[in-house]
Amino acid sequence: MDDLRRLYREALVARIDALQVARQAFLAGDQEGVDSIRRLAHTLKGSGGTYGFPEITEAAEALEAGEADQAIPLLDTLLGILREVASSGDERKFGLLIIEDDPVTSRILQSRLAGANREIFAVETAAAAEKVLEGEDIAIILLDLILPDTDGRNFLVNIRERPELAGLPVIITSVKGSASTKAECFALGADEYFEKPIDYEVLSAAVAAKLQRSGELVRESRTDPLTGLPNRAAFHEAFKRAQSLASRSRESLSLAILDLDHFKSVNDTYGHGLGDEVLRRLGPVITGALRQTDFLARWGGEEFVILFPKAGVAGSTRALQKALDAFGQEEFGGAKGVSFQVTFSAGVTAVWDKVNVGEAVAMADRLLYRAKSGGRNRILNEAVSASPEKKKILLAEDDEVTAAVIKHRLSREGFEVIHFSDGAAALKGASDLEVSLAILDVKMPGIDGFELLERLRQIPPYRKIPIVMLTSMGSEKDIVRGFESGADDYIMKPFSPVELLARIRRLIRAR
Ligand code: GH3
Ligand code: MG
Ligand code: MG
Ligand code: MG
Repeated sequence: MDDLRRLYREALVARIDALQVARQAFLAGDQEGVDSIRRLAHTLKGSGGTYGFPEITEAAEALEAGEADQAIPLLDTLLGILREVASSGDERKFGLLIIEDDPVTSRILQSRLAGANREIFAVETAAAAEKVLEGEDIAIILLDLILPDTDGRNFLVNIRERPELAGLPVIITSVKGSASTKAECFALGADEYFEKPIDYEVLSAAVAAKLQRSGELVRESRTDPLTGLPNRAAFHEAFKRAQSLASRSRESLSLAILDLDHFKSVNDTYGHGLGDEVLRRLGPVITGALRQTDFLARWGGEEFVILFPKAGVAGSTRALQKALDAFGQEEFGGAKGVSFQVTFSAGVTAVWDKVNVGEAVAMADRLLYRAKSGGRNRILNEAVSASPEKKKILLAEDDEVTAAVIKHRLSREGFEVIHFSDGAAALKGASDLEVSLAILDVKMPGIDGFELLERLRQIPPYRKIPIVMLTSMGSEKDIVRGFESGADDYIMKPFSPVELLARIRRLIRAR
């Protein structure tokens, strides 16, 4: 679930409006327009990467740094990207529940409150509203007081008595204007009260503010108060997101955990206050050495975790080493002449498709432990052993070049390839192996691919695994024969490594 991104999108709606107002002011020659544009660009620059929209960060950075005469084209580029992000609807939306029995009012409310990130549920009765609440995730309720089946106040009482709905914002809309009715509604837990005829401008602003506020509440719950960095809960979400992105785009992802060295003695020697200061300064120093899309969070205590999208272990270790160099040079203390430096130790590991955040962190933690015992102030990494479910692939191929290409490509993707140079060797070795898939060359000396296929299928663990035949161009007969003998797929030589990988992934996933 991607609550944060959804909330970020909702907040973008207000930013887009503000940028448009600033654009008009700028074109009218108003200096305040320039200032507003820079301010908005600055905040967008900082937040884009954090929520997984590096394209926003890039465009906002260009705008913030750009010359005044380039402001409009740069701003329009940014606006285009923002609109796209704000309206891309692949995620859950804010649900607005409108309970209103007058069709005209209901229709106006629906059109006034519509938005790219919102899904509107309009009902006429309290009973229908109950149904919606059961099945949908509602973020705000607009409630008419006079309903066909009950008084809206009864409905309000009902909601407030249910713990899961107790915090849901409720806005009353009613023709009843008496002070006592309003006071009663607030006493029963209403958040706002709009008398009919409704001022739709103000209502729409109130709804936006309430949604934004609930977004901020979520953000607060994901932020570590001491350092202002994302906390462990936020890291869990970022991890899931980065992992599925990496697996979809077949790009690497790595993870680091770092722990300050001898931090207890920093506290003991210089006091807890200075210790806190060290923790607070760590964030800016580290992120300064990393890419905007890298994700730093406080794991707990004096431990921090980092996600490196699109980076293998070697690249992320280099980046983290730069961060360690920078952090190690920071001077802390000062006032009474005491000045000291702090280092950290870290473990870096690759993140594969199947590991969860706990397993990945545990892996990095083992390396961190070794970095500590190896003398601290250092980073240890491990490229391949991180996958507890590293899949094995049997490869029978007599051509050494083809075998080398396949081996290289698949091991880079985290598979372990066990290669045999002919059918007999493969058959002999197969029974001791537990593999997830087999790739058999059709033309091999001695036992050829077809015979090997048939004989492998007689060994119980090989009855159900996917088996792929490697055939040569122009030998369509082989393909047919392969399928008849129980092959799951074929790959025609010469093959593209990308295609090979895609087929293998699909076959393994389909099991
Ligand atoms: P090592 O190099 O082996 O990691 O030694 P260490 O002293 O850093 O490790 P240890 O785990 O013994 O101590 C961690 C210290 O971090 C103890 C704890 O008081 C301190 N600490 C944890 N959270 C905070 C915090 O929020 N503020 C401050 N000032 N100290 C903290
Ligand atoms: Mg009514
Ligand atoms: Mg520790
Ligand atoms: Mg420590």
